[in-house]
Amino acid sequence: MPLIPRRIRLFIYVLLIIAGALVAAGLAARQAERHALADDASRAGGQLVLYGNTLHTLIDRYRALPAVLALDPELRSALLGPLSPDAQDALNHRLEKINSAAQSSTLELLDRNGLAVGASNWRLPSSYVGHNYGFRPYFLQTKAQGVGRFYAVGVTSGIPGYFLSNAVISDTGEFLGAVVVKLEFPDLQREWGQGDDLLLLSDAKGIVFIANQSGWRYRELLPISASDRAELAATRQYDKQPLSPLHSQVIREFSGTSHLTRVQGPGGLEDYLWESLPLADEGWTLHLLRKPQALAEDSRNAALAAAGIWLTLVFLSLFLHQRWRLARVRQRGREELEQLVEERTRDLRTAQDGLVQSAKLAALGQMSAALAHEINQPLTTQRMQLASLRLLLDHGRIDDAYKALVPLDQQLTRMAALTGHLKTFARKSPSGLRERLDLAAVVDQALLLMEPRLRDEAVNCVLHLTRPAHVRGDAIRLEQVLINLLRNALDAMRDRPIKRLEVWIEPDANPDRWRLTVGDTGGGIAEEHLASLFDPFFTTKPVGDGLGLGLAVSYAIVHEAGGTLSAENQGEGAHFTLILPTEPEA
Ligand code: ADP
Repeated sequence: MPLIPRRIRLFIYVLLIIAGALVAAGLAARQAERHALADDASRAGGQLVLYGNTLHTLIDRYRALPAVLALDPELRSALLGPLSPDAQDALNHRLEKINSAAQSSTLELLDRNGLAVGASNWRLPSSYVGHNYGFRPYFLQTKAQGVGRFYAVGVTSGIPGYFLSNAVISDTGEFLGAVVVKLEFPDLQREWGQGDDLLLLSDAKGIVFIANQSGWRYRELLPISASDRAELAATRQYDKQPLSPLHSQVIREFSGTSHLTRVQGPGGLEDYLWESLPLADEGWTLHLLRKPQALAEDSRNAALAAAGIWLTLVFLSLFLHQRWRLARVRQRGREELEQLVEERTRDLRTAQDGLVQSAKLAALGQMSAALAHEINQPLTTQRMQLASLRLLLDHGRIDDAYKALVPLDQQLTRMAALTGHLKTFARKSPSGLRERLDLAAVVDQALLLMEPRLRDEAVNCVLHLTRPAHVRGDAIRLEQVLINLLRNALDAMRDRPIKRLEVWIEPDANPDRWRLTVGDTGGGIAEEHLASLFDPFFTTKPVGDGLGLGLAVSYAIVHEAGGTLSAENQGEGAHFTLILPTEPEA
């Protein structure tokens, strides 16, 4: 995959963050809207129950009225035979009075054929008196079952209403007629009209017969079958009112009786929260249609909150990521630094090893003349001894010849020991070597190399060596230290009349340490030089004689072995003291 330039990558990231925020906001807004809708729907449902109860109470109030009137002896006697005009008038007056007392809409008395023999509205032109209502379902129900109820548009008055009727039965059990109460619910409709909600009351066929807003009445909520249509025509339930379907489509269902519905209403297409409440007693259904509240603010708040949370999360994760990266960079830096320090330490050690070795070689170089002499001298002697040996053999003096071989042999052994040790001493020894060794043996080896000078310069050498004095370290390097100390002592005593070199190995005041001291009679060290004695390149010797490295290198070697090296003036010369930790038997 080709590398995407940084700028474009950044742009894509910003785009993704914004897209994420938008998605979060959108989802939250939707969720908030759903929530609010469901809330609204359940509130509307609660209100609908209240409306339902009001209606129920109203109807209940009149349910008993026709039953009670059916027992009235005057009404009953009016149904027994033809009425005189006076009796008719009395009946009408009576019904009118009762109707006004009961506050019902109309009160009428039907005979066994459904003919209205008396009615409370007898004074009006729309009076029921003399009309036959035998075809009305409530009359047929009453005749068959003793009670009837029916909502219908009045065929005479044209005013719709709820008819409640009760049979009037003779003492012999014969059906004499029916008492009918009509309720028109004007109060109810007025009350319903006050709210913003749309309230519809539909019958069992799904036809809306009461609505609190115009244009909604006589709408079919369900498709009407052909047989139902025939029945409607026969009972003239809605008489001349034209019925038209109300088209609607459920968008979201909250429960079986609670929906968000798109309705093609009289005012056009609109969404409503549609709550339905079945009224079992009447076989009707009460509907409450409410326009969803303006949810914009809630949704916007939810969207903003979600976008805010999203951005917070994004920036929090960016912050954590950045911290993690910084920590990683720091860690890497630390590791690199450690590696660098390690490398430099290694370099330094290599340099130090190099310095120790070159200082040693320099010392060897300066000793070489004396050492060469040390080897040359016996060679000359041996040549002479070989000549005399040959003479002895010529003369057949075998025994004397054997005797003469003995010193020759001894000298060769000594030379082999010297050259062998020289080779070992010159060898580059790795730093950090720590073996168990006897400090007295180290002194022996150093004196072996110094012997030619000691002899040539007639130095009085006195040894006070405690043997063995075990320490831990590198034998060759410690020998290098001793060679440096011995050479310095001899150099200091070169022009002195008394040349006395003393070496001590004794236990230190601290019982875990050995103390080795090299003392001379070389006149000591000038007070002002004492402080810089161990500094590299400090020398008081003429150019070519000293490099000023001997003591500095010795100091470093002793330190590495865990010991100390110090100098002081003592008697006629200087005392150099080396203290090393003792190494107990393994
Ligand atoms: P170099 O021997 O090459 O001068 P060193 O580091 O061995 O370097 O010695 C430094 C100096 O310390 C010498 O030049 C000398 O002045 C002084 N010094 C060392 N040992 C003695 C000694 N035993 N007596 C007097 N001076 C000494």
